[in-house]
Amino acid sequence: MHREINKNSDLEMKGLSELVAESELKRMKAEDYKKELLEAFPDDYPPERGILEEGTVFQNPPEEEHTGDRKAFKNMPWIDYWRKLVGYKSVHMRCVFCNRDIFSDIDSPQCHSWRVEHPDERNYLTKDDYQAVGGHYHKNGHDNSDGYIILPVCKTCNGKPENYNLTLANKVLYVEEIGATVE
Ligand SMILES: [Zn+2]
Repeated sequence: MHREINKNSDLEMKGLSELVAESELKRMKAEDYKKELLEAFPDDYPPERGILEEGTVFQNPPEEEHTGDRKAFKNMPWIDYWRKLVGYKSVHMRCVFCNRDIFSDIDSPQCHSWRVEHPDERNYLTKDDYQAVGGHYHKNGHDNSDGYIILPVCKTCNGKPENYNLTLANKVLYVEEIGATVE
């Protein structure tokens, strides 16, 4: 019985330490992340960055590309990869396609107080619906032969089927994906 309790408690501790590691990773200074990325991928660094105009149309990459299996350098969440590489400091942003308010960290005080000030009166949204993700899009606009760019999007837009047209609601900074690993 005691053994069982200890086993569970070890598992809980592991879960907790992984959570701490993840939040430390998200808080890692952009300068330090960029320095390590440069050291690891000197030939690809710096990743291409630029501005995309409002009205530009994208489609999510086809299912067979499995972009969900692609992991950013050091296992950084893709949304934090985007923030660090384009120099976006805030955790609060808008989905580039549907313009909804989303957050790179839904456990942050900023997300919490924004939700208190803007209650979802229809009660449609869960906390997780406020999570921003770094979506993958074809750099050349039609296939993955030139690689991907990363854009900040909501989970709903990120989950649209590959033939669904997604139009940029505003100008947005994009960054090229470099240093990814595939699981
Ligand atoms: Zn969206």
